[in-house]
Amino acid sequence: MRKATPKRAASFSGSAEQATLAARMPDQLLPLVELAYNLWWTWDPRAPALFGSIDESLWETTEHNPVALLSKLPAGRKNQLAAEGPFLAALRDVHRCQRAYLRARPWFRQRYAGKTRGLVAYFSMEYALHESLPVFAGGLGVLAGDHFKSASDLGLPLVGVGIFWRQGYTRQHIDESGEQRDAYDKLSPASLPMSEARSKSGRPLRIRVPVGGDTVVARAWRLAVGRTDIYLLDTNLPDNSPKHRKLTDRLYSGDRDTRIRQEILLGIGGWKMLRGLGLPVTACHLNEGHAAFCSLERVAELMRDQRCDFAAAAAAVASSTVFTTHTPVPAGNETFDTKLVDHYLRGYARRLGIKPRQLLELGRIDPEDASEDFGMTPLALRLANRANGVAALHGQVSRKMWQGLWPNRKVDRVPIGHITNGVHLRTWLHPKMADLLNEFLPADWDQRQDQARVWQKAKDIPARRLWDLHLELKAELVEFVRHRMRLQLQRYGASQRRIAAAGSALDPEALTLGFARRFAPYKRATLVFSDLKRIQRILTSARKPVQIIFAGKAHPADTDGKALVAAIARHANSRRFKGRVVFLEDYTMDIAAHLVAGVDVWLNNPRRPQEASGTSGMKPTLHGGLNLSILDGWWPEGCIDGVNGWAIGSDRDHDGSEEADRRDARALYQRLERDVIPLYYDRGRGNLPGKWIRCMKQSLATVPPAFNSHRMVKEYLTRYYLPALGSKPGRR
Ligand SMILES: *Cc1c(COP(=O)(O)O)cnc(C)c1O
Repeated sequence: MRKATPKRAASFSGSAEQATLAARMPDQLLPLVELAYNLWWTWDPRAPALFGSIDESLWETTEHNPVALLSKLPAGRKNQLAAEGPFLAALRDVHRCQRAYLRARPWFRQRYAGKTRGLVAYFSMEYALHESLPVFAGGLGVLAGDHFKSASDLGLPLVGVGIFWRQGYTRQHIDESGEQRDAYDKLSPASLPMSEARSKSGRPLRIRVPVGGDTVVARAWRLAVGRTDIYLLDTNLPDNSPKHRKLTDRLYSGDRDTRIRQEILLGIGGWKMLRGLGLPVTACHLNEGHAAFCSLERVAELMRDQRCDFAAAAAAVASSTVFTTHTPVPAGNETFDTKLVDHYLRGYARRLGIKPRQLLELGRIDPEDASEDFGMTPLALRLANRANGVAALHGQVSRKMWQGLWPNRKVDRVPIGHITNGVHLRTWLHPKMADLLNEFLPADWDQRQDQARVWQKAKDIPARRLWDLHLELKAELVEFVRHRMRLQLQRYGASQRRIAAAGSALDPEALTLGFARRFAPYKRATLVFSDLKRIQRILTSARKPVQIIFAGKAHPADTDGKALVAAIARHANSRRFKGRVVFLEDYTMDIAAHLVAGVDVWLNNPRRPQEASGTSGMKPTLHGGLNLSILDGWWPEGCIDGVNGWAIGSDRDHDGSEEADRRDARALYQRLERDVIPLYYDRGRGNLPGKWIRCMKQSLATVPPAFNSHRMVKEYLTRYYLPALGSKPGRR
């Protein structure tokens, strides 16, 4: 490793990783290093524009990763840039914006300065912050990422705990027959915007986590996310046996034994890491049950430090713990065989002064029922005084689902509330749309994004302006799809003719639907193909053509989900749909951003009420996109039917029958044929679809103010974090 020169070390206050990169940069370009190492650049469009201008093709091949870009940049290009006046001026400008952001006194500090103490630690198995850091699988990760970005914007005292999944989740490739093939990343910390965490003494931090009879050693990587930090644990160290060394390779893969060790690492290792860093954490927010073992470690710590009994320590931990449940799908609520739990946590029972049997009871809905597996959700709920679902409907469903934990309470008295999810506007808003909003919304709309009246001003945007921009974004999407399809086809050696044909795929004028999310079976990716003749008629109409763009990965072990991927891939290749169906492989945030900016309609058809919230449908509304969705997740709260989008079917729950699938499919076709398609093709003067544009404005005026992540984190703060911080248990 090359050392930074003394002069630079003096002027450069970053981490060792930053210093290494800085040592290879001309002085004039040093601000680039500072920019690259704070993920602020993922939500301020000026930074990516600057990085892209350095080397457009390297920017693309590194998946828009500035650290990789800068480390691969040839010396000649660096010297050239160091002498390029306009580039340096742009660099100074963006650097000034970053510094201004980091130095400003944010909302939280203005309001709560001196009124709270300590930090909330947020635990999540996955974080989706950017496509170049693929340590996430889907919505749970996107939510965690957006949560942190808003926490940074508003200045909340939050610190994140997660895992550095060196091989990521899965890279999806679709082979010629349409089957999903899984490939895995080999992420290198040196080419990512993260730095090894150090203890107070300045040495690289090492955490020792008791896992069964072994001790697993972990280090941690710090990600700077604006004003907040997320620490990712990593066991890939020579100190560990091969089995434990591989523990942090892949997200959501491996057998039950691997999974429980991963969750021990996240919960218990995560807590030990926070202690090792010396951070003043006084409350925890468990994003899903994966990290629930954290509460056991905290109870044990309190018992030791304050010499209190299990019950008193558990009460103190519960009063400073917030738990968010994310899924009404049973498989999403992790359970473990009690033998496995007993094997790994027997030592904990001893530390907690309880019998192994009592420890197992903490993870059961009915403690007496020895046949019940150990559930992470019951464990998390028992040790958290504040718990919530992620939409109003999901709160209701969760109260019913977990009522057994409170046998003496009526369903509506079960202590699980809800905070509806939201999306981070700056992450999901196309820069050109941001410019348009700047013109018509009040100057401080970003700070007041959770106020309904701010967005009413969107109705003042002239129809022509909104429509022209929409067509421009849709054309960008079509270009993006063509480019991706060419790459996809080249990869599996398709004929030149087919590759060339991809260059004219899709019609930028046609009504365009988007469907992109994980291919979990309950989301029913193939529902729109239930009646092949009917969907063929709809898609291939000569006068009113419709096209659908699909994207989404199935879990590598989910054969049903993979069958859905294959079915969509085959429809995309089928001549019967005349190229009106497209499947983009390897769904990630970059694809999502293009889709949500350019589609006319976002389609969502889960089996109600299995979609806890769903957030993808919130993103197109920032550009005037319209939702066509089952009344599930957030949509019952957002939908004004026929005004800002459409509901598919009624608010009846799906009963699991095939008839219910058929009923939903019929409702979907009906809405397309009677409402969506006629409205889109109802053109007035200048070929403008006046009524459609009115719906676009309604979508823009009504959805973003209620479903942004600033509103969401403010709710977490005022309803949950402040009381949890106030009680200050666990503080040393
Ligand atoms: C928004 C988003 C999701 C979440 O989609 P749901 O509709 O909640 O399932 C998943 N993956 C990516 C890449 C996203 O951007």
